[in-house]
Order: sequence, then C-alpha cells, then structure tokens
Amino acid sequence: MLEHDVLVVGGGLAGMRAALAAHANGANTALISKLYPVRSHSCAAQGGINAALVDRGDDWEEHAYETVKGSDYLGDQDAIEVMCQMAGGEVIAMEHMGVAFNRDEEGRLGTRRFGGQQRARTFFVADFTGQAMLHVMFEQLMKSGVRAYNEWFVTSLIIEDGECCGVTAMEIRTGSVFAIRAKAVILCTGGLGRLYEPSTNAITVTGDGMALAYRAGAPLMDMEMVQFHPTTLKGSGVLITEGARGDGAYLINKDGDRFMTNYAPNMMELASRDVVSRAETREIAEGRDTDGCVFLDCRHLGEQFINERLSQIRELGKDLVGVDIVHEPIPICPGMHYQMGGIKTDVDGRTPLPGVYAAGEAANVSVHGSNRLGANSLLDTIVFGRRSGEHAAEATRGVDFKTFNIEGWVEREEERLRALLARQPNGDRVASIRFDLGTAMNEHIGVVRNEEGMKEGLEKFYQLKQRYETVPVEDKGRTFNTDLVFALELGYMLDCAETIINGAIERKESRGAQFRSDYTDRDDENWLRHILVTRQEDGPVVSHLPVVITQWQPQVRSY
Ligand SMILES: Cc1cc2nc3c(=O)[nH]c(=O)nc-3n(C[C@H](O)[C@H](O)[C@H](O)COP(=O)(O)OP(=O)(O)OC[C@H]3O[C@@H](n4cnc5c(N)ncnc54)[C@H](O)[C@@H]3O)c2cc1C
Repeated sequence: MLEHDVLVVGGGLAGMRAALAAHANGANTALISKLYPVRSHSCAAQGGINAALVDRGDDWEEHAYETVKGSDYLGDQDAIEVMCQMAGGEVIAMEHMGVAFNRDEEGRLGTRRFGGQQRARTFFVADFTGQAMLHVMFEQLMKSGVRAYNEWFVTSLIIEDGECCGVTAMEIRTGSVFAIRAKAVILCTGGLGRLYEPSTNAITVTGDGMALAYRAGAPLMDMEMVQFHPTTLKGSGVLITEGARGDGAYLINKDGDRFMTNYAPNMMELASRDVVSRAETREIAEGRDTDGCVFLDCRHLGEQFINERLSQIRELGKDLVGVDIVHEPIPICPGMHYQMGGIKTDVDGRTPLPGVYAAGEAANVSVHGSNRLGANSLLDTIVFGRRSGEHAAEATRGVDFKTFNIEGWVEREEERLRALLARQPNGDRVASIRFDLGTAMNEHIGVVRNEEGMKEGLEKFYQLKQRYETVPVEDKGRTFNTDLVFALELGYMLDCAETIINGAIERKESRGAQFRSDYTDRDDENWLRHILVTRQEDGPVVSHLPVVITQWQPQVRSY
C-alpha cells in the first residue's frame, strides 16, 4: 500500500517548497510529478523574484500597495499583505539554501526594476532565476529524503464522503495505475498556458490540477484573468523577460517611436503588463507594426551589460528570429503567459474541498487579482507552497487514514484508460484538437474581448469537446505512452477552457487582463468581486464572492 500523510502533486517551485515544509514539520511526505522535477516550468522563469528588504529603505506595504494596484483591486488584500510581509525572509532563506543571486557593486544582493513598481525590488540570477532556484530546491529535496514519484501522472483525486483521501496515478514508465492514499493532497500542478497558442509556457503546462479539483467539485476562481505578456518573440511566442525593460530597454513601433509615451507617460515601458500589452495591441491594430509585431530595443544598453544580465535572451533572439539584440531591435508582440485564476484557497492553501490544498500557479489565493506584477509569481510559489505544506502537516498529525475501496478506484481508472486506448482511428488527432483549442482561445478570449466573439469561442469549444469524445490514442502500448498522456492532458485543458470562457462572458466590465470592447470601463459597483466557476451535474455554475479590502480602497488606476 502506497500511503503518505501529505502527498504533494507537482515538482515545480511550489511543490518542492510545500514538500520540504511538510517534511520539516514531521509529516510522512511524498512528491509526485509527471515531469522529472527540474523540468517543471518554474525552470523557465527568467527575470526574478520580488521582495521589499528593509535595509534597502524598502517597505512591504509599498510592495503590497503596488500589488493591489497592479491587480486592478481584484486581489484579496489580506493575502497580499501576508505574501509581501513574508517576502524578504523567504528570499533570504533561498539565498541561504544556495541560490547565487546577482550582486550589486557593494556586494549586496542586487536588484532590478520590474513593471508596475516604483522601486527596484526584484532579486535575480541573470535571466535564469527560476532555473537557479529550482535546482537549489531540488538539492534540498534530495537531501531531505522525501520520497519522489517522478514521471507519475495523476489521473484523479480520490473523494470519499466529500473528503479527499488520495489520488490515482499512472506510472508513465510502465502504464500501471496505482492508488496512493494520503491524509492531505497539495495540488502544485502549475498553470494552463498551453490552452493558448502561442504561449510562453512549456508544452507540459496543461492545467491538470485545476481540472482535477474542478472535477472533484472545488471552485475555480477568476479564471477569465489570463495574462498576456508584452514581450514574446515573433512566431514562437518564447518569452523575453520584463527584466530587459526593467534594465532600460525601450518599446518602439515601426516608425521608431517610443509609443508608451501615449499610454503610460509616467511609468512608460514599466507600466503593468495588461496596460503595455493593450498599448501594443492598439499600435498593431492601427498599422504601426511590422508583420504583427512592434519592437524591443536594447541597443543602448551595450554589449557588456547585455552579456552580464540578459545573456540567455541574446541567444534566444539569435537562434529563433536571427536578431542580435546588441545590434538590432527585436520583433515582439503580446502573448499568453500566466493564469491569475485557479483553485480557490485561503492563505494556508486550503481549498473548500476537505483534504485538498493548492499552491503556486494552480492555486488562486488571490494575490494577483486581475493582473499579476512581474516577479510576484515566484514569490507566490515559495510563500504559499511553504504555508500549505506547514498547514497540511499540522492538520494531518494524529489523524487516521481513511479506508476506502482501493481496488475499486484503481479498476475504475484502468477502465477509463482502456476505453481511451480502444478507440478506433477516425481521422482526427489529439494534436489537432489541441491546436484548434489554442488558436480559438487566442482569437476569442485574448487581449481584447467582446460578447459576440466570446460566444463564438464558446461554440467552437463545444465542437472541440465533441471531437474529444471520440479522438483516438494512436499508440496502443503501455510503456511510456506519451500519446495517452497527451490525450488525458487535453481533457484537462478543455475543462479549464470551459471555466475561462464562462468567467469572461460573465464579467461585464474591463478590469486588468479582462478588457472588453463592449464594456470598456471598470465597474466597481457591480464587479468588484470574484467570479467562481463550479462544476455540477448539468454543467458549469457561476457564483460570486466579495473582494477582501483591508487598507486600500479602489482608485482610478493610471501609470
Ligand atoms: C517563460 C516563463 C518565465 C517566467 N518568468 C517569471 C519570473 O521571472 N518571475 C516570476 O515571478 N514568475 C515568472 N514566471 C511564472 C512562474 O515561473 C510560474 O508561475 C511558476 O514557476 C509556477 O510554479 P509552480 O510550482 O506553480 O508550477 P510548475 O513549475 O509549472 O510545476 C508544475 C508541476 O506539476 C506537475 N504536474 C502537472 N500536472 C501533473 C499531473 N497530472 N500529475 C503529476 N504531476 C503533474 C509537473 O510535473 C510540474 O512538476 C514565468 C513563467 C514562464 C512560463
């Protein structure tokens, strides 16, 4: 019998931080991950992590206020306060674990500026901060002896009497299905970037944990809040870190004008991401673009500076679009980057579903509201990863495992997989449905939305869902059957899409990442509230929750 007090699903930063915290607090802990942990998307984070350090004259309340303003007042202020207060300690803890953050001239931890913030409070390791943090966290995990089920794919949450008591999972190497019993499950499964094409996210970022929770009856909150990053590379959608603009790069249109003077004269290129992405979209719509792109200009930063701080994106530019940023502006456009919404949790990671916690991008503790500030996500993963691990360890101490029909659960999952594998070829493919979903989401639920376009998107979604019911899995074997994994992932993606489209149609205003051409203003009177989508037998049901306001009343948001 495989059983653990606390089972963490996901080996990214949130998952490893949660597992270490649960282990340190005495729980028999295990981590299960469809990817080998260091391949998690956290590894791709480039620009850095925010914290207000007092010895820099910074102040957590200033960080919190800018996060609230960045969220367009949809973030819950109690959660934002917790995150910003803990930030300094957690970043220093990462440094003590071994993350070699860049230094300034005086030898102290160096900072760069990020968007939506007046001060430089982003700590970084060149332009591969996530990789540095993830590898150090992995060393800590190895040292701890926490059991890791690497390359195991979670297929369901086991719910008995309304309570979670484990997961079913497929060992990808053999295709065998197991039930793992747990007193608490922490979902740290990351975002859903690949619901959109293109996206800055790895192809493995498919919203699995959000869909697992949704299927089990947990509400997903603020799902319409999908962030488009202002600087993604032409064609591939690969990210160019906001750190480049933080370090002084400009945005220019095809005429060479720094167009942000017209949209955000104070903060310019460092306005919030939603503001910059909308500005670019307008430049492109009004014809001041080249092939659907505007440009990021780094030339004035100089070769030495670029090599020290932006070496990876110099290489990416050369390899992917044949542009050396030292000598030429690089073509970019807004691209899908991050999901602010997710499984609703409290500040200890608890979801409304007993026994289920969530942290990281899969969760919505509500620190990002309708627009996340750059470099607040890595912070979110380690702060709320840690808190959920600690709380789960505490909550499971002295509690007995629940008994349930383990063979029944395994058989049910086996049957589901057998049925998928038994489907006969019909000319359709998982990859084509996935691509059609991505392009439909990009077209209809993108930077600018309206009722008519979204309804069209919903129609396309229904058709895709129907195609999914019969799409065959081409590889019929059980050993490393990635075809089967892709098919299961596509099911998760469709569930997440359902919640995004429903949330976006429901919110009849423009706020943060949700910009509607048919309701162009923010409407605090009617919409200063969260939108929750819950699955019931006859489909998705939408409900609302008030936003928690502690000290910052909503104001007009300008940059
Ligand atoms: C290109 C890029 C650059 C970024 N740069 C920054 C930055 O500079 N600063 C910042 O703050 N944020 C940045 N972000 C955002 C940030 O990196 C992510 O939000 C964060 O790392 C997510 O961490 P996570 O632990 O929640 O999930 P992930 O790191 O995505 O990990 C998810 C884990 O879940 C596991 N998993 C998923 N589904 C299953 C399943 N069915 N069964 C088993 N396991 C499963 C995976 O194996 C993986 O280990 C960036 C994001 C991208 C895409």
